[in-house]
Amino acid sequence: MSFEIRERDILGRIGRLETKSGMIETPLLLPVINPTVQLIPPRKMQELFDCTAVMTNAYIIRKHFEGEATHKGIHSFLDFNGVIMTDSGAYQTLVYGDVEVPPEEIVQFQEEINTDIATILDIPTGWAVSKEYAQHTVAETLRRAGDLSNIKSRDDIAWMGPVQGGQYFDLVARSATDIGKLPFEIHALGSPTPVMEQYLFDTLVEMIMTAKVNLPVERPLHLFGAGHPFMFALAVALGCDLFDSAAYAKYAREERYMTEHGTKRLSELRYFPCSCPVCRNNDPESVLEMEKIARQKMLAEHNLYVSFSEIKLTKQAMVEGRLWELLELRAHGHPNLLKALKILDKYTEYLEKHSPITKRSGLFFFSALGLSRPEVIRHKKRLSERYSPPKAEVLVLLPQTRMKPFHRSNECQRALKDIQWKLAEEIDDFHVCMYAAPFGVVPIELDDVYPLSQYESVAPLDLETLDCVAKQIANYIMAVDCERIFLVQDVETWKGKIAAACRQACERKGTPLSIFESES
Ligand SMILES: [Zn+2]
Repeated sequence: MSFEIRERDILGRIGRLETKSGMIETPLLLPVINPTVQLIPPRKMQELFDCTAVMTNAYIIRKHFEGEATHKGIHSFLDFNGVIMTDSGAYQTLVYGDVEVPPEEIVQFQEEINTDIATILDIPTGWAVSKEYAQHTVAETLRRAGDLSNIKSRDDIAWMGPVQGGQYFDLVARSATDIGKLPFEIHALGSPTPVMEQYLFDTLVEMIMTAKVNLPVERPLHLFGAGHPFMFALAVALGCDLFDSAAYAKYAREERYMTEHGTKRLSELRYFPCSCPVCRNNDPESVLEMEKIARQKMLAEHNLYVSFSEIKLTKQAMVEGRLWELLELRAHGHPNLLKALKILDKYTEYLEKHSPITKRSGLFFFSALGLSRPEVIRHKKRLSERYSPPKAEVLVLLPQTRMKPFHRSNECQRALKDIQWKLAEEIDDFHVCMYAAPFGVVPIELDDVYPLSQYESVAPLDLETLDCVAKQIANYIMAVDCERIFLVQDVETWKGKIAAACRQACERKGTPLSIFESES
């Protein structure tokens, strides 16, 4: 098995995962197939949605269809010739309190049915459990993971090493570090049901990030039980490569209609806000009048259409280098998603370190949320760590211009000429910096370095952004070596915040400050 990364954006990647039944492209959604009750047959999924991989449960198959599945092999048993991932059934023992199968038997069974991607019988940590119990789940899962190499007899199946620990992030970290040292091809993170059902996306972000920073970065990461399209962009941006969705069917049975922004009850809908074949050829009223099974099938189909289409949209956003913009857009689908995006602030350094340096497109800055994006953090970091300001008598600070690069704009050239004309006699060396949102201080000689000229920002700027840029300027003034500071201020855009920050910093430093009004 090999995993080759083709495109990257934030921690997200488009990759090619080679398995014994063919190559799959990630990020990928694997619909969950329950052989005891299945609304859409796997073959139909392949035809309708170009679905390349599905997930099913080895435990349920063993319990109900052991002989048939072993005899036929899982691909013909399910009538699906794509890639098949099997879960071990650990979740069933957790939720339904079923009698546990010996872990080695589940390993052997997955080999016998000839699955492509298999899971060891781990112990899910679950939710609302004591730390002691959580520790036990981590230790026992790790012990079983260590035993795998003695039990398995084939090398052509990719094995998933699950990370446990639940909401105890220190345990998640330890679990990820230890399991990452074992020779697994893929890792998986179990997301406890309440995290998804109660939209605890901030907890989910912390779990994923804790696992991600401690796992080998080159191995794909599967996120268990995350099947709602409105959180795909977030999970992909955090580096999750594979998802399984039982949600499409579960929601259909509950008569719920998925959208990329959230879920609606079928009975609430007057229009179908979607153009998939189901929604194009029907309206909510006629679907409500259908008999129950037909109605649920239609909803399941729509739910899968919208899920696959969101994965494609996320991939396209990555190709364009606009995953952050998609993330912000989706975050406004639910307050808890927005809260989760804000939590990312804690991980800005890691995100910056692992994000691509250049992209095909510039960036859009909409609000203070964008201050945490990797490109902004990277500029600030490089400015303080790698940039040495030229030694000059005067530091000139000019406001951002609409035209970029700034140094080519008329406003910038005129302001510089004016200052030079006024001071020609006295001073001949200047260090010129622009101040701009979201990047803060931009030395003029760097203003055509990506992405300092390749962005568009919103006007008027929000208060948090104004404060952030003002603070950066104050810090820059404290760090730079100069005898005088000239500030050209644009009160309309910057609301006097920049002048106030400069005054305070210059007073502290004892450097004379002259303030001019921008003509524009
Ligand atoms: Zn639809």
